[in-house]
Formats: sequence, structure tokens, C-alpha cells
Amino acid sequence: MADKRDYYEVLGVQKGASEDEIKKAYRQSAKKYHPDLHPGDKDCEEKFKEVNEAYEVLSDSEKRARYDQFGHAGVDPNYGAGAGGGSPFGVDMDFGDIFSSIFGGGFGGGRRAANAPQRGSDVEASVTITFEESAKGVTKKVSYNSVDTCADCHGTGAAAGSQPKTCSACGGSGRVTINQRSPLGVIQTQRTCDACHGRGKIIDNPCRRCNGSGRYRQPHSVDVSIPAGIRDSQILNVGGHGNAGVNGGPKGDLHVYVNVRKHELFERRGDDVWCDLPITFAQAALGAEVTVPTLDGKVRYPIHEGTQPNDVFKLKGRGFTHLGGRGKGDHYCRVVVEIPKNLNQKQKELITQFDRSTTERNYAKRSGFFDKLKKMFG
Ligand SMILES: [Zn+2]
Ligand SMILES: [Zn+2]
Repeated sequence: MADKRDYYEVLGVQKGASEDEIKKAYRQSAKKYHPDLHPGDKDCEEKFKEVNEAYEVLSDSEKRARYDQFGHAGVDPNYGAGAGGGSPFGVDMDFGDIFSSIFGGGFGGGRRAANAPQRGSDVEASVTITFEESAKGVTKKVSYNSVDTCADCHGTGAAAGSQPKTCSACGGSGRVTINQRSPLGVIQTQRTCDACHGRGKIIDNPCRRCNGSGRYRQPHSVDVSIPAGIRDSQILNVGGHGNAGVNGGPKGDLHVYVNVRKHELFERRGDDVWCDLPITFAQAALGAEVTVPTLDGKVRYPIHEGTQPNDVFKLKGRGFTHLGGRGKGDHYCRVVVEIPKNLNQKQKELITQFDRSTTERNYAKRSGFFDKLKKMFG
């Protein structure tokens, strides 16, 4: 994958730009590169896509925050991860829809011919994986419902042996022109044809399976490869598994939301793993070889003599795989020194005996503390 440009640079705004500045910059760029103004110009089309992608992220405060923190990897799970692929467009980002929603229609998109190929919309699904699976990567069967082209009529909507007729009211364009008189002269406006509801075709004998729509929704499943290092709530894009397109347009994409279950012992911080390790006060005082649970299984670790509560030690490279990069995070263990409870008489005597044997030499913090106390109160 080629290096992506910085989204702020794409829109030509400062990093701290306000929502209004971003919207304004987007309108200007989108108008400049709109494909309807440059038919067949691949360069413009790429720029247009890039501008839309940047706006999709920067106009969403949550995505923008993730982008500011993690860059492209924070908002695009496929960035460098090699999963999915497919369109860089988000949900329902087809040229016409963008323009009818932002510019109130009438700018190119709204006048799409009734029989022009149209990309299918995207579909959403979710999958839940364990903490360990998120660390190792896993392939999961994901179930979802999507709209398919009807197998009986191949999308025409007409029953077997019949064909849809071209709508005579609009001549097949799906739109009719209306002339309105006004003090300024005749104004021509276009609107969707009532006779065919904009489809440009009339079906006298509808296909029974799809009731003439040419499409129906049905359950599907697909094996999705989830890359090692994926974070909770990341979204994977599976190209070409969304809803069927219209008039031979391509399928939309499937967006899979990945939920990662919490772990009983581990906590993820960035690509590092943290865990608490309870040890006895004898182990802390004398040192001991302890067993540490990690993502790679059990690891033996020598606790040194005089280990203190909340001491942290690090097992290098035993954390999560960096998504989209090389190397791994680390595994951190925080020492919890457990003070024994429910002591019997004999044990209490032993501890008392031991305590009497200690001197200031054994307690650096405590003697330092009493020195300070003396200075404060004399
Ligand atoms: Zn059908
Ligand atoms: Zn019509």
C-alpha cells in the first residue's frame, strides 16, 4: 500500500482546524475534483476519493481523535495490516449520495441515469474474539444478511419468459422535465418519474421470488482473517461482501466490528500487556524464582532479594504484535506483596521474634521516614 497523505494536508487545513473550517475546505476540494466535472480523469477521481476519505475521518470527532493519536492506523484497520482491501469509501459513499446530502442535490449525483451502474451499499456485522485470539490473530466465520441479485430473474424483476418494458412516461431515463412559468421566464426542473419511480422500466409481470424488485436479502457467512494485534472495537473492511449493486454495479463492502473480551489476568495498554503478580513477603524479602503468565505461556522469572510492593519488571517482546508494523510490545508485571492473614499463635511468635531481630539497616525507607519526622517536629 502506498503511503497515505496526512488528512489535514489533503484538505489543506491546520491540525487544530474547527469543524466549520474542515467542512468549508472539504466543500471547496470536493467541488474542484468532482468526477462529473472531469469525466475520465483518473487523477481527479483519486483526489476526490482522497478528499472524501479525509473528510469522513476529520468530520467525525471520535475518528478524528483516534487519527490525531494514532495516525492512519487509528482509523483504518487495514492500514498496513493486509486484511480485507476493497473500496476506500465508507458507508454509502457513492458520488451521488455525497452530493445530495451535502449540497442538497442537483449537483451531478442527483441526475444519475436510471440505468447507470450503482455500487451496492455496505453491510455491517460484528464478531467477538478472546484476548488471546486478538494477540495471535484468528480466522472467524462471520454471519450477516445482505441483499443479493435475484437468482430467478437475474435482477430484472420480471417473471421468467417476460422482460421489463421501457417506461413511456420518461423514455427510460427515470426522470421527467417540468416547465414552470415564473416572472423571470420558463424554469425547467427535473424530478423522478412517477410512472416507474425512477427506475426507467415498467414490469407488468413481476418475478415471484423477489416481487419484482430484482433483489432479496438473505443470510451469508464469510471467513474473516483477523490480524494479530487487533484492538477492541476496530473495524475490518471485507471488500465485495456487501449488498449487491444495481444495473451491474459492484457489491458494497462488509464492515466487521471486532469486540475483544476482557482477560482475567491481563490488561492491554497500547501494545503492552500488564498483569499483577502476587508474591509472599518471604519471596519478596529473600528473592525467588516465580512463574509469570504471558501471552506466550508460562515464563520463569527470578524475583530479586528485597523486592518491594508495586515494583514493576518487564519481559521484553512478550506483548502484542504491532499492527501494521514490525516488532512487539512488552509484558509488564506489577508485584503485589501479600501480607499473610489468619496466623496461628506459633506463626505470630515467629514473626515477633523475627521483627525483634531487625534493625534500621533492614528498613531503608522507614529509617529515612523517621529522620524526616524528627526534622519536622524535633
Ligand atoms: Zn426476481
Ligand atoms: Zn418512467
